[in-house]
Amino acid sequence: RQPIIAIDGPAGAGKSTVARQVAQELGLVYLDTGAMYRAIAWLVMEQGITIDDDCAVAELATRCKIELAPSQSLQTPVRVQINDIDVTQKIRTVEVTSLVSAIAAQSAVRQALVKQQQSWGQRGGLVAEGRDIGTHVFPDAEIKIFLTASVGERARRRQQDFQKTGSILSLEQLEQEIAERDFKDSTRKVSPLQKAADAIELQTDGLTASEVAAQIISHYNQ
Ligand code: C5P
Repeated sequence: RQPIIAIDGPAGAGKSTVARQVAQELGLVYLDTGAMYRAIAWLVMEQGITIDDDCAVAELATRCKIELAPSQSLQTPVRVQINDIDVTQKIRTVEVTSLVSAIAAQSAVRQALVKQQQSWGQRGGLVAEGRDIGTHVFPDAEIKIFLTASVGERARRRQQDFQKTGSILSLEQLEQEIAERDFKDSTRKVSPLQKAADAIELQTDGLTASEVAAQIISHYNQ
């Protein structure tokens, strides 16, 4: 089987950019698992379902069809469709971002999505990025990376991303959003955000995505 590289870490640690670069350089498939949780959150919002209605959310998660298509360039994110609706941009809004952790905490949602993620991995040759990849989705991954950065650095990176999409939030608002989401993601009952015991932790403050990608590739080549 071709290798699987698992990249986990908190919000805004630069996982997506780094994972895409690693995948491109090594000729592996890139899997953005956060995009799947975001797509479900968008659909829950779109259908006017209350987030504490576990049954309705579970039913939606089990029945929906999510498609991820790799984007053509490193600059554009993965193209995402849910039930044939293109939600590539829609899943990146502040509204979806503030809802997604509560949706991702529901075990039925995780069960449905983890199954899909593991089926991507059957073919191997994958760089999968998320919160529970090394601990839960692919515990046998050949390489596990845990990316971190200070909250200040992560807020600055988020702000740069947002400038591209036109949304303007202050650094303080972004820091608060990131800290809240990390708290929810790391304190939930089902597969919380956690560094796997055998993961390599990379502190990325002051490093560019290319520098971090190069470090991961050198671990891969060792
Ligand atoms: O990575 P991204 O910020 O797009 O992830 C959005 C949200 O999806 C996270 O805040 C988390 O709640 C959830 N998520 C998760 N498990 C993953 C990937 C994402 O719970 N493997």
